[in-house]
Amino acid sequence: MLDTLIRGAKIVDGTGKAAFTADVGILDGMIEAVGNLSGAQAFETIEAAGRVLTPGFIDMHRHADAALFREGFGEAELCQGLTTLVNGNCGMSLAPLSGAHADECAKYLAPITGNIPPELRFASIDSYFKAAQGRGLPLSCAELIGMGTLRTLAAGFTTGDLSPLELRDLHYHMEAALADGACGVSLGLGYAPEIFYSTDGLVRALAPLHRSGVPICVHMRQEGDGVVDALREMLEVARALQTPLEISHLKAIGGRNARKAVPEMLSLIEKARQDGLDVMCDVYPYTAGSTQLIHVLPPEFQEGGTEALTKRLLDDAARKEMRARMEAGSDFENITLLVGFDNVVAIGLRTDEYRRFEGKSIAEIARTLQKDPFDTLFDLLAAEQCGTGMIDYISDEEDVRDILRTPFSGVISDATYPSGGRVHPRVYGTFARLIEKYVVQERVLTLEQAVHKVTGHAADRFGFEKKGVIAAGMDADLLLFSPENIHEQGTYARPNLPATGFDEVFVLGERVIENGVYRGGSSGEMLGARMGY
Ligand SMILES: [Zn+2]
Repeated sequence: MLDTLIRGAKIVDGTGKAAFTADVGILDGMIEAVGNLSGAQAFETIEAAGRVLTPGFIDMHRHADAALFREGFGEAELCQGLTTLVNGNCGMSLAPLSGAHADECAKYLAPITGNIPPELRFASIDSYFKAAQGRGLPLSCAELIGMGTLRTLAAGFTTGDLSPLELRDLHYHMEAALADGACGVSLGLGYAPEIFYSTDGLVRALAPLHRSGVPICVHMRQEGDGVVDALREMLEVARALQTPLEISHLKAIGGRNARKAVPEMLSLIEKARQDGLDVMCDVYPYTAGSTQLIHVLPPEFQEGGTEALTKRLLDDAARKEMRARMEAGSDFENITLLVGFDNVVAIGLRTDEYRRFEGKSIAEIARTLQKDPFDTLFDLLAAEQCGTGMIDYISDEEDVRDILRTPFSGVISDATYPSGGRVHPRVYGTFARLIEKYVVQERVLTLEQAVHKVTGHAADRFGFEKKGVIAAGMDADLLLFSPENIHEQGTYARPNLPATGFDEVFVLGERVIENGVYRGGSSGEMLGARMGY
């Protein structure tokens, strides 16, 4: 007797091969059988003729580390078809968080993960996993160990490479996290303090990963004028370490880099793959990004962390220097120079002085206050103690399409979870958008290709052996839908609307969306715990 029988669906099985029609039986959270199951008995039967059945989608790049403890977590994710998330990206993992620099680290993470109260400060990945698992998760989550978090714990926001003693501390924590079940390592080289590594220093920091097979996901040192060099650096690192490398959210920031850097990088990656390196990339299907607003500043001013930076933002001499760097520099991620203050929108504003400007660009705020945009930016950041986020309109739609079409690319959200204010619509819509815009409307990808990128491909990348494919013996993470009904409801102006169109969603056999209605559930797992890294 099966728990559930899904009859006559068109199966897009996650491997990328052509769809076929079959029945699928679910028993005890697993796919029991796939084929002609006309003789099978089940407690519930779903007639699925005319609809598509796929594996649950996997978001390889999210920042829900702390959000999974929030009330209501799961709806935004499950309503766009996500049944598995990989958190801890861009060098920023919630755990471990302990020691002398824990406060500094928590402040730095807050615009990305949301505020981190004392009960969410875990001293190890193990204690984080246990707390998350104990909560009852509506979907499954895995965690990367963030090298920014680890470097901050080992050395604070210092510049330069790490000392042998600091490196020893870093390696100890990295190896402990991997033993505890982290599914890989993430780098945020665009951010302080990781931006202060030399290439050699970075290779030394990652040395324990040599030939380990542990994937490294990297937010590269630059995504603007220096993006191609940043990629070359990472290929050098991959060559030195001989372990899989994932280039996170590949893009080229700024009109002057559009349609140039991305094609060049795709061929560099292709070439490295032909040379035997396991390098791949991923993309979020939007032309805007979202991160901390301090990311627009020259990184050297972030030495010492956000408190030190706040002081500098109020200091006339430092402001002058920052401004001069931002007016011309191309040796850092100079976003305001590349896209202009009109394209940098402030979010997550918390003070009485600035809350009314939520969702407004720095240029608009400057016009309203009748101030210069640099002064506006510095004053706002200082008043908000650097805890502000941004949505920045940075990249080119044709570049996005090129990366989507690439066989070795994955699709991700990079969703962040600030504690308040507006968010990027990708938090709610990325995976619905993939189907609605890039499969049904624009036919950039076939349904099989798109589904493969966010199922079998993603599961392979992190070794989730029971996920990403519809076959007997795999986890029963499943989506039943009609592609033409999938709709991303959120917009930049009104992002927080769950996507619609997924009729049935199963997480380990539990029916968490039924007839299009979100029910939620508690069958999700923290992955490393069972997957045995
Ligand atoms: Zn990133």
